[in-house]
Amino acid sequence: MKKKILLTVSIVMSMLAMGMLVYIMFRKPVENVTREELVARENLQEQSSEEKTEENSEEKTKEGREEPVEEVTMPEPVLTEKSQEMDNGILIAIDAGHQAWEVDMSALEPNAPGSTVMKAKCTSGTSGRYTGLPEFQLNLDISLQLRTELEQRGYQVLLVREDNQTAISNAERAVMANEAKADVYIRIHANSDNNPSVHGALALVSSSGNAHVGHLYNESHALAKTILDAYCVETGFRNRGILQNDTMTGINWSQVPVMILELGFMSNEQDDVAMAKPEFQKTMVQGIAKGIDAYFEQ
Ligand SMILES: [Zn+2]
Repeated sequence: MKKKILLTVSIVMSMLAMGMLVYIMFRKPVENVTREELVARENLQEQSSEEKTEENSEEKTKEGREEPVEEVTMPEPVLTEKSQEMDNGILIAIDAGHQAWEVDMSALEPNAPGSTVMKAKCTSGTSGRYTGLPEFQLNLDISLQLRTELEQRGYQVLLVREDNQTAISNAERAVMANEAKADVYIRIHANSDNNPSVHGALALVSSSGNAHVGHLYNESHALAKTILDAYCVETGFRNRGILQNDTMTGINWSQVPVMILELGFMSNEQDDVAMAKPEFQKTMVQGIAKGIDAYFEQ
């Protein structure tokens, strides 16, 4: 009996021991697997969360990129279309001739690049014999209105002066037009004559033999003709034609087609009184603008 009991006990003990062993053996791998799995799952979660973050950040970046692109590109074509509609790509330089009397422009400058002939940097011009209107003021008034009109017609405009106090010489004005790469340079002046019956408008250009701007003669002459003709039709002023002059500093320094429009005679009562009227000035500006249109439509 004792042997049977001892055997049974030893079997039970060994079974328990086996069970323990089996339990331990199974338990450890399960724990290991669980830990590995956990680690793996954690890594996967981290990776996936990183991927999601990257995806999100990519999405954000894409959205971020798309949004500014949309914001920038959407208005740009609109602006471009508008600017293409508004801007005809032509730059008109305008010189409102002279400046105020008190601005001393008596210093000399060469009347052409490299020339030894010296002329006053600028003069203050004439004035209305009947209205008293200074020429520099009439030239500025017409030039300012012409800028507005031309801009409405799609041109870009460079005014060499916008007030009467600016001290800028005739050569410097031409250089401004050159440096701006203006398509044409239009100089606005008004005339005077000892004979008060002399009236009407005329234009001045260089001769074709001018050493400095002679090569621009054809364009300058065409510009002068279209502007003078349109101006005289619009205003009803007598058309006195185109004169050639190679002594004008503001013409000789130009590197672009250049002409002077003499609006009328401030020494003539009819011309003087008409040119001082704001309503008539609108007509004058329309005439010049139509002439510029005609020149660039050729
Ligand atoms: Zn003048």
